[in-house]
Amino acid sequence: MQKNIICVACPMGCGITVEIADNGDILSVTGNTCKRGDTYARAECTNPVRSLATTVKVDGGIHNVVPCKSAGSLPKDKIMECMKVINTAEVKAPVALGDILVENILGTGINIVATNHCPAK
Ligand code: SF4
Repeated sequence: MQKNIICVACPMGCGITVEIADNGDILSVTGNTCKRGDTYARAECTNPVRSLATTVKVDGGIHNVVPCKSAGSLPKDKIMECMKVINTAEVKAPVALGDILVENILGTGINIVATNHCPAK
């Protein structure tokens, strides 16, 4: 099987072709112009991950929500499930930059952290 992907490890956006055997082994990676692209392509075909940036509801703050992000990469196939958890979460003001808003989301070991502050009203 052949998989064509765009490397997003830098703004160059190289087109990469990955040949994958029936058993899932990577046979070849071509089109990348550096080692990072090779690493990205192999990970994308075996264990794709994504960072997540969104907002969490705030109770009693000067804003209704506070921006947040995953403190690490999450499995791509768990992103939608993570969003459901985050969408139902609510934290009490005040919120400080870097506060953990959702700890160890879905048992991934990754925390959802505030990327801004939200003082209380
Ligand atoms: S292969 Fe290298 S140069 Fe090309 S997009 Fe990826 S990181 Fe950038």
